[in-house]
Amino acid sequence: MKTLLFEGKISKVAIIKVLSAFSKKAYHCKLSPVVFKKFPDPKLPASNWVRVKNIQTGICGSDMTFYRCAQGPSTAFLPMPCSEVTFLGHETVGEVVEIGKDVKNLKIGDKVCMQKYMASCELKGFKTNEFCDMCKKGNYSDCENYGMASKVQEPVGAGMGDSYIAPEGQLLEVNDLTNDEAVLVEPFAVSLHAVLKHVPKPNDKVLVIGAGMIGLNVIQFAKLLVPECKIYVMENNPNKHAFAKKLGADEILSGDPYQAVARATNGKLYEKGNNRMILGGFDVIYDCVGKGTLFNDTLRWLKAQGTLVKVGYQMTKTKFDETPIWWQGLRIIGADSHGLETINGKQKQTFEIVKEMMLKKQLITEGFITHRFALDDYKKAFKLLIENPRDTIKVVLKCD
Ligand SMILES: [Zn+2]
Ligand SMILES: [Zn+2]
Repeated sequence: MKTLLFEGKISKVAIIKVLSAFSKKAYHCKLSPVVFKKFPDPKLPASNWVRVKNIQTGICGSDMTFYRCAQGPSTAFLPMPCSEVTFLGHETVGEVVEIGKDVKNLKIGDKVCMQKYMASCELKGFKTNEFCDMCKKGNYSDCENYGMASKVQEPVGAGMGDSYIAPEGQLLEVNDLTNDEAVLVEPFAVSLHAVLKHVPKPNDKVLVIGAGMIGLNVIQFAKLLVPECKIYVMENNPNKHAFAKKLGADEILSGDPYQAVARATNGKLYEKGNNRMILGGFDVIYDCVGKGTLFNDTLRWLKAQGTLVKVGYQMTKTKFDETPIWWQGLRIIGADSHGLETINGKQKQTFEIVKEMMLKKQLITEGFITHRFALDDYKKAFKLLIENPRDTIKVVLKCD
């Protein structure tokens, strides 16, 4: 098995952090903690595990966080022992090439996506009766055993490699999707999960910040689920505007963001020097960027009793003024990856819903994959994402 992994040794990470302050070339140098490693093909550790040969894998912002060593020393992840080695690549489609004798729902030759990626009870090799409350319910991404040692000794691998091993419950069969649809299931699921965390009401004014992969599909799902809501988009890159509109955005905000928010919502903008506040802003904001001072600003762009769904993130400490939260009775909801959803009164996994919508052709899936590289050229792909030319949405690595 040949696979790309992140070795979170503090010394390596520190070197890249220091060097990259001088030159972006540092990310691609030999000292990078992201390395290709070869292992003997691991044995399946239990009878319900399978081996998957990767076909292609998308590069996620979280993969880039590893590559750029962007995690600050104060994030809540850091004390977890399991965060020291991470196999990269979860937006992946592959083919089942070996199955354990107790595998029930998959067969050799099935096309599969990786549904569960973050450390959870199942991936750590726990028995069903040892699962935490979150994993029992199907909310694997919120696993309470995240920090526990894994019972699986083998290097499992992931999507950025030739193959990986997984318990069958980690995977979703997608035989009837194309490879390009299948590789988009995971990022689409992230956007759907964010929208289902707080579904807009029919006449809500909704702001989506950022029209990258996640923001674009927040637009697509919000409009699909609630066609009557009005969606505004804040995105500096003009190359993304037409696609955002195609996916359901009603208006693109331009100019000074505070003035634009006030105009769009008929809110009142008050200013004293740099301190600006709007009364009467958006009903709902999906922040799909989450960088810099944005959190401080989004709190001031919401209407009283409005809801911020925070999907975008930065892995460093941030400063913000908390006044609007309590004064305006705001609701702040975090959204990460996917899990168990309630939709139309039924409970389903986010992945299942996306797959069904794709099969019914309810979703636009064309236009998201903008660049493709061979797996061996991963550095070129990561370099492109760091440079982030204006036409970039999803970059895919071909693994077979
Ligand atoms: Zn992802
Ligand atoms: Zn768990």
